[in-house]
Amino acid sequence: MNTFLQLGLNEDLLKAIIDLGFETPSEVQDKTIPILLEKDTDLVALAQTGTGKTAAFGFPMLQKINIDSRTTQGLILSPTRELCMQITNELKLYGKYCKGLNVVAIYGGASIIDQSKDVKRGAQILVATPGRMKDMINRNLVDISKIEYAVLDEADEMLNMGFFEDITDILSHTPKDKNTWLFSATMPQEVSTIAKKFMHNPIEITVGSKNVGSDQVTHEYYMVGGRDRYLALKRLADANPDIFSVIFCRTKHETQKVAEKLIEDGYNAGALHGDLSQNQRDMVMKSFRAKQIQMLVATDVAARGIDVDDITHVINYQLPDEIETYTHRSGRTGRAGKTGISMVIITKSEMRKIKSIERIIKKQFEAKEIPSGIDICQVQLMSLANKIHNTEINHEIDNHIEIINEMFADTSKDELIKKFFSVEFTRFYNYYKKSKDLNADAGNSRERSGDSDFEPSENSTRYFINVGNKDGYDWMSLKDFLKEVLDLGRDDVFKVDVKDSFSFFNTDAAITPKVLEFFTDYKHNDRFVNVEVSADKGNSNKKRSGGKFSGKRRSDDFQPKGKRRSEGKGGYSAGSDNRSSSKSNRSGAFSKFENDSSRPRKSRRK
Ligand code: ADP
Ligand code: MG
Repeated sequence: MNTFLQLGLNEDLLKAIIDLGFETPSEVQDKTIPILLEKDTDLVALAQTGTGKTAAFGFPMLQKINIDSRTTQGLILSPTRELCMQITNELKLYGKYCKGLNVVAIYGGASIIDQSKDVKRGAQILVATPGRMKDMINRNLVDISKIEYAVLDEADEMLNMGFFEDITDILSHTPKDKNTWLFSATMPQEVSTIAKKFMHNPIEITVGSKNVGSDQVTHEYYMVGGRDRYLALKRLADANPDIFSVIFCRTKHETQKVAEKLIEDGYNAGALHGDLSQNQRDMVMKSFRAKQIQMLVATDVAARGIDVDDITHVINYQLPDEIETYTHRSGRTGRAGKTGISMVIITKSEMRKIKSIERIIKKQFEAKEIPSGIDICQVQLMSLANKIHNTEINHEIDNHIEIINEMFADTSKDELIKKFFSVEFTRFYNYYKKSKDLNADAGNSRERSGDSDFEPSENSTRYFINVGNKDGYDWMSLKDFLKEVLDLGRDDVFKVDVKDSFSFFNTDAAITPKVLEFFTDYKHNDRFVNVEVSADKGNSNKKRSGGKFSGKRRSDDFQPKGKRRSEGKGGYSAGSDNRSSSKSNRSGAFSKFENDSSRPRKSRRK
């Protein structure tokens, strides 16, 4: 393998490479850069995402253009606004010592006037999305009639997105004798077609084998019942405390729904789909890059071009309709030399899709089991131990250590550790202690229907209780009160419905005797609190019109929601009131909000 120096790059670029911390060229860079520097040729380069293709065309282009001229000499077309901005930024970094270099990004959703002003100042290189580029050409705001280099970046994605016509149109405004460089992760028929149509005897470079996923990615599937998808997702997240992931759903609606559920359950999640405004999408991506969002729930279209290097997991909440899309999804992880895991949550009937995908990616899936509650508790406990072990001491505490020491004078180290850990761990434990096996082959013969993950099922008792608003309760405080006096877990009291002088609530039918017995002779604030089984089952919630309630309620099932966290659409989490939830209190049902009355409460379920 060559060094960057051996590839023939000039001093300005080599200096920038040192600043960037790139030590050796990646394979695609090693193979393409010398060719592009030496020859005036068309080129097709196929390499997985995350292999450094931007630099493979970026360095040669920067070296070959004439920076002293203000003429536009290079045009890079890229499928999405995000990618467009990213490539522009990368090129600016690569060319930071190239004095006079002007790279301009051209994309929709921002002022076309501002962009054209930037172009007029003399841009040697334009990085553009096809749609906006066409606009600019039609309005005579750019001149690409003298370009020498055209790059079609992520060509497969551009074609996937239906940009064939636009690309044809744009290239018709460019000189015939330019060089065209096409970069793509995969080589579907459409890409060969475009290569034939627009290129003359292109040199072909392939890194890895065509259409095959990255070697850095392992593929796993988890077979569950259709209605357990969401619970499985939560378990997978909880079993991987440092997860930084993209979760793929099939529709915008489902994407939004899953993201909202996750946010509501206390995860640092966000949604990315086409119903969000550009501004909202930018915010989500910003939070994701900053890792304030650990779980980005996205549609395939919206996730195109997500180019974040450290993604640890891709989770296919549902498989894509077109199995070819799987390669794109799993390519979001295992980038830049890192390893990654692509997980698929499937039902039995989808097994044949796994087989088809295996044929495409030429790799085997590993059949894995959804971790049990106990496993997750253990992982979380160890992760907590690790975190504490590696935590830097905040010496502000020194000022108070004496009093604290006094308080624990009689506590042994062992005991202290246990207490300390219990602060975080008990919430986990309570949540998972009664959890069931989610694996589809777990001998669980319950009827499992399609996509009913969000439908509550229950076998519960509805109670009447003779306290209400008048006594100072709202549904949250009443729920807290009941959980406390009855010594119940987070999900054990639900559908709390507070009226003026009385209220209703539900519990699992199994604990009805315990509830009734407790309240036979119970006084609170000098007043007898009376609880009776109510005739109303509490299933008349408008939100669930037509809902079927069958089967047994489980400890980790959902309850129907009273309020939505985000009114209206487009709930991205990180910039909103969820910001205060730090990584450490992210997990599942254990969001700090649950126990901390100072936190915003509106997301809590009734
Ligand atoms: P691709 O276009 O193939 O998906 P990118 O060009 O976006 O990949 O590069 C992926 C990441 O790898 C980027 O963060 C980039 O800065 C980094 N990178 C590129 N080349 C090198 C290199 N030679 N050494 C280290 N990191 C690199
Ligand atoms: Mg790229």
